[in-house]
Amino acid sequence: MRSKLLPLLGALGALVWTHAARAEGVALTYDDLPGFALTDSVAYEQLTTDRLLRGIKRHHFQATGFVIGDRLDGDNPAAHRAMVVQWRDAGLVLGNHTNSHESLNKTPVADYIADVAQADAVLRPILAARGQTPVWFRHPYLETGTTAEARKTFEDWLAAHAYKVAPVTMENSDWMFALVYDNAILHHDRAKAARVKRIYLSYTEKCVAWYRSAGLQLLGRRPDYVFLLHATRLNADTVGDLARILKRNHLRLEPLARAMADPAYQIADTRGDPDGDEWLSRWSVTLHKDLPWDSFPDPPADISAENDRLDTP
Ligand SMILES: [Zn+2]
Repeated sequence: MRSKLLPLLGALGALVWTHAARAEGVALTYDDLPGFALTDSVAYEQLTTDRLLRGIKRHHFQATGFVIGDRLDGDNPAAHRAMVVQWRDAGLVLGNHTNSHESLNKTPVADYIADVAQADAVLRPILAARGQTPVWFRHPYLETGTTAEARKTFEDWLAAHAYKVAPVTMENSDWMFALVYDNAILHHDRAKAARVKRIYLSYTEKCVAWYRSAGLQLLGRRPDYVFLLHATRLNADTVGDLARILKRNHLRLEPLARAMADPAYQIADTRGDPDGDEWLSRWSVTLHKDLPWDSFPDPPADISAENDRLDTP
């Protein structure tokens, strides 16, 4: 009996192993370097950078950071440049996120290209000092242009300069929680900060689960994901929690280039409307399949309202 069971158990083991080996990968990307915060305080941004990078290193996130060029040329340029250099020296990949964080949907394409070229002139020497070149570009607001012509003109420019677009296939609206958390920290309101963190993590867990099931429903298999986050204090203070959420959801951390090697990223983006949607939505248009939007988790209304108040100049 035992001798007959053993090969069967071995086969089952192989099956389980194959399944585990096929767990989705996830590449973490952090936008708006050197940092996104409610305050201009360099000390605040520096602490955020130090904590975020410490957490990223501790949890072996092979993250990519997207730099806003003019942050290295405005207030406190030396300090901001040093923060970007810190990311580079932590062994992380750096990409271009335009110079002035404009939207391609609202900017003439020639101006947009000039702005991205300006950011390239800032980023390229920082990377060249370590023998690297910029590869990835992330559109601010994920807005990729309202006309096919604008889009093609810009994407041709990117290709001619050896850039590739970094899409987004997982997100948790982290920006919506970030300023609310900063406000609590800046007012030394620990109870509030702890509450925002708790709500944020619970929302993140729901979003991760939704994107996993939406990806499977759309593609009939589990794709590798590219997760959009921002370089914020909230994310710096929750790196370990995020690592646990990803682990619970069987997501394996990997570099952006590895995630992008998933054939899903070859699916054309034929969507015509100008909203800054993530790429599962775009692929759903190309593939003529619906996503399970009915089950998409609603962002907490109080956080959203407080963010609106804080975000109004
Ligand atoms: Zn951004």
